[in-house]
Amino acid sequence: MREAGRVTARALRAVGDAVRPGITTAELDDVAVAVIEAAGAKPAFKGYHGFPATICASRNCEVVHGIPGKIRLVEGDIISIDMGAIVDGYFGDSARTFGVGKISDELQRLLDATRSSLEAGIAQCVPGHRLYDIGAAVQAVAEGAGFSVVREYVGHGIGRAMHEEPQVPNYGVAGKGPVLMAGMVLAIEPMINLGGSGVRQLNDGWTVVTADGKPSAHFEHTVAVTEQGPRVLTLE
Ligand code: MG
Ligand code: MG
Repeated sequence: MREAGRVTARALRAVGDAVRPGITTAELDDVAVAVIEAAGAKPAFKGYHGFPATICASRNCEVVHGIPGKIRLVEGDIISIDMGAIVDGYFGDSARTFGVGKISDELQRLLDATRSSLEAGIAQCVPGHRLYDIGAAVQAVAEGAGFSVVREYVGHGIGRAMHEEPQVPNYGVAGKGPVLMAGMVLAIEPMINLGGSGVRQLNDGWTVVTADGKPSAHFEHTVAVTEQGPRVLTLE
């Protein structure tokens, strides 16, 4: 899983390095394909329930599951890239929201808060803690910064499949839920909205957007619970 995480992280960084005004999300998909293929790995998303691409590219008010295409990024946009790689049957899954050129202070605060909320969730991945400690920590940071937490989509266990039990909500009451044990691996992925928490799915059957049309950010890591504490697997 560490190796799958490493390839995922490398591909996500390469896509992030390519983000600039004028590039299309289909071109960003090509960048991810090249890195994953060069590593001898397989993309985790392509063909998953029929998903047509290697990355999800979700722009501005798109929350998750955006399909790459001919849309050109514009200075001031934010673009959430979610991707996974498979190595020897094990999965990595990671996401990050990038600014396109210079973004507003408000959007930068949204990105910073979403990343901080992920870090707070990761810090709870300690044996003996409870599953909802993660969501409670994410929620406290995100709402404390004045943003809202998407409820309809959640993190998940991950291993030999991309989505395993348990679901990992980004909200909840600390001290509740199953006890975390060393050896569990969880994908923690706060989706944080600038406006209200409501979302809806577009008619393409994939793209999830905010109900109020305001921007949304998404950061994700694959994290192992170990006796030594949280170990983030989706790092280079
Ligand atoms: Mg993901
Ligand atoms: Mg995930």
